Amino acid sequence: MILWNDRLIPRSEASVDIEDRGYQFGDGIYEVIRVYGGKPFYLAEHLERLEKSARAIRLPLPWDSGLLAEKLNQLVEANRLVEGTIYLQVTRGPAPRNHAFPEKAEPVLVAYTTEVPRPEAMLKEGIRTCTHKDIRWLRCDIKSLNLLGAVLAKQEAVEKGCKEAILVRDGTVTEGSSSNVFIVREGTLYTHPADNLILHGITRAIVLKCAGEAGIPVKEEAFSVDALHDADEVFITGTMVEVCPVTHVDDRKIGSGVPGPVTRRLQQAFDEQIARQCGARDGIMGERR
Ligand code: PMP
Repeated sequence: MILWNDRLIPRSEASVDIEDRGYQFGDGIYEVIRVYGGKPFYLAEHLERLEKSARAIRLPLPWDSGLLAEKLNQLVEANRLVEGTIYLQVTRGPAPRNHAFPEKAEPVLVAYTTEVPRPEAMLKEGIRTCTHKDIRWLRCDIKSLNLLGAVLAKQEAVEKGCKEAILVRDGTVTEGSSSNVFIVREGTLYTHPADNLILHGITRAIVLKCAGEAGIPVKEEAFSVDALHDADEVFITGTMVEVCPVTHVDDRKIGSGVPGPVTRRLQQAFDEQIARQCGARDGIMGERR
């Protein structure tokens, strides 16, 4: 079943209008929400960010977050989803093609679920990454459907045998193509400030909270590519990748080439958040505790 505006319907009954502005202009916004143990994780925070994105592109949302949360929970239940994701998008809807907003816009909301296991191997072993020029627009804080800058960077990374592209604007690291980037240097955690050049990741915010609680010093400051290459530890964060160690950047080993202690500590703290919100269960990093 999928959520189609305010109704749950079978996926086969949904259709996209060829003049939908999301389809033609990327005129819309989206969220990806993780479901653990049948419960959406940090749902309120994702819906708050959706509202912010909607305001930023002057898109009226059909419902408030409370009602939307109810509908998404019904969707998860209808599909008996235990481990997976909810993809949710809202477009400005169908209208005769013209860049300016249509006079009468009827937004179209779609949400569907996908079963996805946790990325166990990546979380344990870490990933290889490479840097890529950040060619995206200047409102990366809006979670818009326009993703070509990220798509092209990720594709190049994949072609180089990497799992993520780390984006660089004017010599400083902004974020990953679909993640936020952190480095550890002499015990301090650094990540780009939450301004217009990055998406304000929900996982990023959880990690900053966990770091504060663990007494790990944090600086929300832009850092250079050299600082990235020479970091003691690097990890990326995101709804799909959780807290994922980076072992290599541009074929250069980070630290000793294995996930470092601060990353491990934050992975544990993140597991605890999942257990707390979505029910007690063994964390994926459990055996390392
Ligand atoms: N930055 C970008 C560009 C992303 O696409 C994502 C994935 N949504 C993130 C950061 C991580 O955000 P979150 O932790 O909210 O998934």
